[in-house]
Amino acid sequence: MNKKRFLMIMLAALMVFVLAMTGCGKQSEGAEQADASAETEAETSDETEEGSVIDYMVLVNQNSPLPDGWEDALELTTITNSVGDEVQTESTAYKAYCALKEAVEKDLEGYEKGEVRLELDSAYRSVAAQQKIVDDFTEKYGEDYVKKYVAVPGYSEHHTGLALDLYFTIDGKDVYENEDLVQYPDIWEAIHARLPEFGFILRFPEDGEAITGYAYEPWHIRYLDSPEIAKEITDKGITLEEYIEKSE
Ligand SMILES: [Zn+2]
Repeated sequence: MNKKRFLMIMLAALMVFVLAMTGCGKQSEGAEQADASAETEAETSDETEEGSVIDYMVLVNQNSPLPDGWEDALELTTITNSVGDEVQTESTAYKAYCALKEAVEKDLEGYEKGEVRLELDSAYRSVAAQQKIVDDFTEKYGEDYVKKYVAVPGYSEHHTGLALDLYFTIDGKDVYENEDLVQYPDIWEAIHARLPEFGFILRFPEDGEAITGYAYEPWHIRYLDSPEIAKEITDKGITLEEYIEKSE
């Protein structure tokens, strides 16, 4: 291998690394210098069959399992978050998340406790990965907690790639654990206020447990690919279950 070719390969590898580390490339200085083809390669790892379409209004909950063949049609974007975990998200939902992140971070400029940066804890999960969460959380928080907060493998909205669990950093410090995240209602309020315009809803709102099966989770948002529908659901204060039931 000649020296020039070696350098080119090293440079390409570095670009891919920078993109993978920074996720929403637009906001990172490093990523701006990367060309469009490198970005596509780094961010998209799809095996989408031609003509396959995702139903962004799909309902997956404790009574409705993931539809057959869903994962064959799923196009995923992979990033690495601030704690070093790889996170995969349905690609259109990921683009919307990046726009949401930019808007929220702007809204929170000058926040009293420091600079807030939105991060992705978890989005797409395979059934096997969900089983691991059940095992880990049972050990960490106990069976009762898991029954209340964690989905049975096959029945998690995270299998769709359209459900995103958020966390954030304040002045570069990770606020990551659920018990720490709930200490910042003001930040969640700022995040939730911006969800509908980017096609997201708060999926497990307060007092929604009887319908959604889950207690309040400020971090779990769901992409619907429609700001209009997201706004209607939010304005009416209803859940996705209620919206789908009404429109059937
Ligand atoms: Zn979640």
